[in-house]
Amino acid sequence: MQKSFFLSLFFVGSLLCSPSLAGGNHDYNFKVSRGDAFYKFFFSTGLSGKLLTKLMASDERAQRLNNIYPGDRFRILLNEDHSLKEIIFSPQNDNPLNIYYDGKIFRFQKADSRSAENLTYTIINIQKSLNYDAKKAGVDAKVRQIMVDHFSWEIDFSRDLRKGDRFVLSWNGEKTPEAMIYVGDKKTIALFSHKDSMGRKKYHTSKGETLNDSFAFSPVKYNRISSGFSKSRYNPVLKKYRPHRGTDFAAPAGTPVYASAKGLIKYVATLSGYGNVIYLKHGPEIVTVYAHLSKFAKGLKSGNRVKKGELIGYVGSTGMSTGPHLHYEIRINGVHQDAEKIKLAKKSVVPNSEMPGFQKRAKRILEELNIK
Ligand SMILES: [Zn+2]
Repeated sequence: MQKSFFLSLFFVGSLLCSPSLAGGNHDYNFKVSRGDAFYKFFFSTGLSGKLLTKLMASDERAQRLNNIYPGDRFRILLNEDHSLKEIIFSPQNDNPLNIYYDGKIFRFQKADSRSAENLTYTIINIQKSLNYDAKKAGVDAKVRQIMVDHFSWEIDFSRDLRKGDRFVLSWNGEKTPEAMIYVGDKKTIALFSHKDSMGRKKYHTSKGETLNDSFAFSPVKYNRISSGFSKSRYNPVLKKYRPHRGTDFAAPAGTPVYASAKGLIKYVATLSGYGNVIYLKHGPEIVTVYAHLSKFAKGLKSGNRVKKGELIGYVGSTGMSTGPHLHYEIRINGVHQDAEKIKLAKKSVVPNSEMPGFQKRAKRILEELNIK
């Protein structure tokens, strides 16, 4: 009793504003008056400037705390050890915003009378890498892998991620997320779960498509195979039997060569064996190789992205080649595959009959998370 009385005196006497100390020194309630600022309330509870900086940088919704009006209310709850537990911001003309803190990350939740379910979510704030920061946010290895498998069709994790980019995972009680959303400086990619007729969970954009692409069988229009994939083939240039780890498409010099699926340009180079060659990376594990090109398409640069069917070069006979043809390879995790036999996953689409429900749910999740 005595202790809390002195604490009250201490606080009231030393503060810029006068908090009402309802519920003792772990529960602070403030009503905004003209000229008040959130940081004053925050500091009056004894929390540090470092934590405030972390809070404000954790999520753009934190900016809402700087946009306050007389009559709005704050409640700041502390743990027994006086560390931050929760901030509840109750503006007069909007739903309350709850900010939970577990000692590591901030979790934002806006009470929404429209939502039937109680959505929970994880925010991964990129400081180092997806893997590092997701682990730090408590995301397990399986879910981290799912994120890489999907987002790497659109994001090159080694070049595209920037400090401050965020991934938001929303959960509905299952071990894998209901939605996974990347919010970057330049783009937002939102994926929503959907179960197919076999009950397999896949992630689709709000248009209903998965991020992966189906592969065209041939990167040239007229696809006569002059030499298939083989373990031992006579090489007339080397005059030796050697494995042929690709598929040769016969085509006149100058025939356009197209990307067989959407991907990232990994290398555009001139090598002694392959001649003019392009490596495309598709998703987390597939690489396609286009060799002996006479020339590259204009403006082709490593690090850029190409669409499926985009012109990337022209058939030629550069490098170790006996005549114009396209040498084409598919590698999965670095292992050469036979393009004529390999079955690659196809882009999948939410069935038309399920689209209205799927899109309604996607819209609700984005609204709930306050993502545009
Ligand atoms: Zn070849």
